[in-house]
Amino acid sequence: MKQVIYADNAATTCLDSDAYKAMTEILQNEYGNPSQPYSLSRTAKKLISEARGTIAECINASPDEIYFTSGGTESDNWALEGVAFSNPDKSIITSQIEHHAILRTCEFLEKQKFPVVYLPVTQEGTVLPKTLNAHIADMTSLVSIMLANNEVGTIQPIKELVKITHSHGALFHTDAVQAVGHIPVDVKELGVDMLSASAHKFNGPKGIGFLYINRGTKILPYMHGGSQEKGLRAGTENVASIVGMSIALNNNINNPVKNDGLYREEQFFISQLEQRGIILGRDFLWNGNNGFDKHLPGLISLSFIGKDGESIMHRMDLKGITISTGAACDSVNTQVSHVIKAIQVPNEFAQGTIRISLGNNTTHEEVAAIADTLCDILLK
Ligand code: PLP
Repeated sequence: MKQVIYADNAATTCLDSDAYKAMTEILQNEYGNPSQPYSLSRTAKKLISEARGTIAECINASPDEIYFTSGGTESDNWALEGVAFSNPDKSIITSQIEHHAILRTCEFLEKQKFPVVYLPVTQEGTVLPKTLNAHIADMTSLVSIMLANNEVGTIQPIKELVKITHSHGALFHTDAVQAVGHIPVDVKELGVDMLSASAHKFNGPKGIGFLYINRGTKILPYMHGGSQEKGLRAGTENVASIVGMSIALNNNINNPVKNDGLYREEQFFISQLEQRGIILGRDFLWNGNNGFDKHLPGLISLSFIGKDGESIMHRMDLKGITISTGAACDSVNTQVSHVIKAIQVPNEFAQGTIRISLGNNTTHEEVAAIADTLCDILLK
């Protein structure tokens, strides 16, 4: 296979090798249905219970507050629908820059007559507490604001937003799909009632995730059927993936990606562009908040004046470098994404947006090669 430089870790990550080994062993040998009483199944049940404990510890939750799902999309759908339908006549607040797993669910709920408010953000992509304060009301049942944005990486002031939400008697959910495994996440410190996570964003397998639900939170079940997940999310458990997810998360948290290192790589990357005469503020913009600890480490979203992000992405691909655009494409039009619009990237830059997301395995030499190839393409 052709060697690629992979710089789209915000889209997905490669599978942790310890997780892979454990999963293979389970798929081959521990295939018992965890709900059955015999010994083959008891092993599977024990593996799930241990994985639940490991995951809970990683985010400072209790094991009984972790519910396994098929990933971030399901966790988001469940949190929103599960609270909305148990609070008829009440409204929901979210932000304009959420992932479509939240936005499309909100559109669905609007069709069911639930009012939804979409909060605007600053040009750095931050939901300001005062904006939430201005819109929250006693008829709000739920506020859902992402912990970190998937396109520009901005980290939200969740603790302050939670305080405002709780002072109005509403629940707070955060889509932490991009954050878990990458920056410290402590549900008790944040104060959130629910939190969504997805394994494939932190070197776990695809198609598995979890929803943290703070004990005592009033939420309806999502899948109806067997009594798995305390009767709230039915379906035979995906044992191998659950275990793979717990190993990947634990490894990420215990071998913290040198986040300082990733921030330094970002600065190095920008300096490489500037050395070739492509200047920040003149030829390109940094999207989102570029402050240390204010954005996801390694997530670089840039908009180049007069360029086309999709064409840059394809030309990088031809050179063996995988990056992404800031645009949601359809077969006919390339549209500027809702996030790039919400943070008001000027028109002449917006179309030229790309996202480079470095990961645990990205080397300094690879960052240099990405910068070099990008310069060659931009200067041609
Ligand atoms: N939320 C955010 C912020 C995401 O970035 C993603 C995936 O890109 C999702 C939700 C959906 O997660 P999944 O792919 O596990 O369904």
